Amino acid sequence: MTPSTAFAGKTVAVFGLGASGNATVRSLLAGGAAAAAWDDSPASRAASEQAGLALTDLSTADWSRFAALVLAPGVPLTHPEPHWTVVKAKAAGIEIIGDVELFARERERLCPDAPFIAITGTNGKSTTTALIAHILRVTGRDVALGGNIGRAILTLEPPSPDRVHVIELSSFQIDLMPTLRPSVGVLLNVTPDHIDRHGTIESYAAVKERLVAGAKVAVVGVEDDYCRAIAHRLEAAGKIVRRVRSEKPGVHEYGFAGGKVCYDSRFDGLVEVVSLDGIASLRGRHNAQNAVAAFAATWDLVRPADFAAAYASFPGLAHRMEEVGRLGSMLFINDSKATNADSTEKALASFERDIYWILGGKPKEGGIAALRPFFPRVAKAYLIGSASKEFAETFGSAVAHELSETMDNAVAAATRDAATSSGAEPVVLLSPACASYDQYKNFEERGDHFRRLVSAIPGIALRRAAA
Ligand code: ADP
Repeated sequence: MTPSTAFAGKTVAVFGLGASGNATVRSLLAGGAAAAAWDDSPASRAASEQAGLALTDLSTADWSRFAALVLAPGVPLTHPEPHWTVVKAKAAGIEIIGDVELFARERERLCPDAPFIAITGTNGKSTTTALIAHILRVTGRDVALGGNIGRAILTLEPPSPDRVHVIELSSFQIDLMPTLRPSVGVLLNVTPDHIDRHGTIESYAAVKERLVAGAKVAVVGVEDDYCRAIAHRLEAAGKIVRRVRSEKPGVHEYGFAGGKVCYDSRFDGLVEVVSLDGIASLRGRHNAQNAVAAFAATWDLVRPADFAAAYASFPGLAHRMEEVGRLGSMLFINDSKATNADSTEKALASFERDIYWILGGKPKEGGIAALRPFFPRVAKAYLIGSASKEFAETFGSAVAHELSETMDNAVAAATRDAATSSGAEPVVLLSPACASYDQYKNFEERGDHFRRLVSAIPGIALRRAAA
């Protein structure tokens, strides 16, 4: 745990008692502060009380006695409208921060140069964060991994010169961090998302920009207009910027060419670092961007010769293009995390043909119409959940499809059909392009169900489980 001493002797209001809220309370107490903890949900309050935390009803409390409000990142700060605790904190004139800010202040106090790699972006955050942590771990570093992935940051060991904190940050977390000075900041991409919480795409992009603007070294994906403009502004301000692409790098950029992560060196021209050929956990062009960003973020901490083994042993993350197993030449992929057409596009783009595609669930606006250019790659589609009728209409006669209704039916039918394929590597792909809530609790439960069904296929050769 990292005790938070910034508010020693004072009382801090903590709202939102999920894993990070509970960790915040413990960290504040360990650092000599008092915490007034609360949540709107009776179930969360009960769980925290059961875990031994004392509660204070913040709706009736006297806010003049609080030094700050620590807000959980899921709670609206500005949009669609400020949460009532935000209104009270503003009226009391106290600062509103997040748990990562408490960590950042502790780092400033203990060891301002402690390695701190912070990763954000609209897509690819978790994969890149996990890959960076993996590369550093297998090459012998002490790594603390957390934030928006895995463990709440304040449950991790404190910052120190010999420990690398590798931290995924959402835009909500960045919004709650006035002190943002990572040693390396990684911004992968900016595309419209969470606009309901940030008002406009411009303010969403501005939040993301803060992460790299505050970093000693900025690693920026330059494949969308927002990020290109950000990289340009940082360079104009004289910052160290490492530009990242998923294609051939431009002058002094990091990129991907001939299946290899590479960079354009001032003295040696194009230098190849590591081949991603055959690395199942890093399939697809989107993962090339993640792999290149991970290299750009770590190359000064790792011996060049050590990268190949580090990438090759990356287990990948569950539910994101996760290779579950093989049956003869057939491949089974769990991409349950793909809850919208954008994400599913990445999956379809990763296989040129013979895709036996399981999709459906609770549809998102726009459905799968945007995926039309990829329809020729699909041998057959298997529709599950409430989107079935709508998606069947989109397919029309362009894609052979059946209404499977359930995952059980879909896996059985797709496996049967893929077995008759004459293709070199037919793929049974779960990439739903839909939320899961009509049939499952969340995308993890949906992906686990797919994995269980595939695991029960006679003769299947299962791959080592992803992280
Ligand atoms: P995040 O943590 O940002 O949600 P993940 O690493 O969990 O990202 O990946 C989620 C999905 O986003 C993947 O299944 C893939 O469809 C897509 N994705 C991953 N990396 C990228 C990238 N660099 N660019 C665009 N899309 C990506």
